[in-house]
Amino acid sequence: MNYRKIEKIRTPQSFNWVGDAFYTTSFIGGEISRTRMSPFFAVGYNADIHFDAKEIPRGVGAHPHKGFETVTIAYKGKIEHQDSKGNHGVIGEGDVQWMTAGSGILHQEYHEKEFSKRGGTFQMVQMWVNLPAKDKETTPKYQDLLFEDMTKVQLNENSFINVIAGSYKEQKGKGTTFSPIDMYNAYLQKGTVVDFTFPKDWSTAILVIEGSIKVNEETDLKKDSFAMFENDTEETFILEATSDNTIVLIMSGKPLNEPIAHYGPFVMNTQEQLVKAFEEFQSGKFGKL
Ligand code: MN
Repeated sequence: MNYRKIEKIRTPQSFNWVGDAFYTTSFIGGEISRTRMSPFFAVGYNADIHFDAKEIPRGVGAHPHKGFETVTIAYKGKIEHQDSKGNHGVIGEGDVQWMTAGSGILHQEYHEKEFSKRGGTFQMVQMWVNLPAKDKETTPKYQDLLFEDMTKVQLNENSFINVIAGSYKEQKGKGTTFSPIDMYNAYLQKGTVVDFTFPKDWSTAILVIEGSIKVNEETDLKKDSFAMFENDTEETFILEATSDNTIVLIMSGKPLNEPIAHYGPFVMNTQEQLVKAFEEFQSGKFGKL
């Protein structure tokens, strides 16, 4: 069988602090262009880092977003979130926070209080999922997708797929999206082989969160490796866990093929919309926090 080949592998080269809470590397931007992985505009990855105990939680204070969605997945440690629409939530290991910034929102992102007091290892992913032009002004909303509540597809006794959004083998996840997207966390024990099939033209990538895998019976990937697949060839690739307690994040989405105008926390289609977004933010239209 011919498998969908890996086009590019990226491993963390450099990290940047976001506030004093998130130490992230970017897998999209640079070698992989923002349009190549559309609708995924950014994949920020905070690899394992230890935080000492701290009474006042580290974090990023109130800041705006408009025109896209932030998808935050906690793998180690806990994150607390609050926004100008009155939403508030805490996510821990394997939980997902899917925030639609849409027409504009302010939010803040912090380490959860108890985690901060205790200290410990922290690991998370934050993706920016672009919105189709027709949905840029949608009302902001917030989906809490908790590990226990996710659609779970059992592969064998101790291996399973958590469906964050879209579906896996006809089993639908609870997360709703504005363009076609499949997103999963695969929890795999050593020797487990699992296959994934997405339309040829969808932007598709995986990130090894924990453990190690072999892709298509030939490529070994270690923890913290990001692999983007070719488009327009085959639809299916396979992963084999080569260590126990392996976790892999899988994402695939139909490209938007729309112009992008980006500045800081705003992702729009035109320069005029960017200027307007900035004016709306300045005039307080995104609410208060
Ligand atoms: Mn943010």
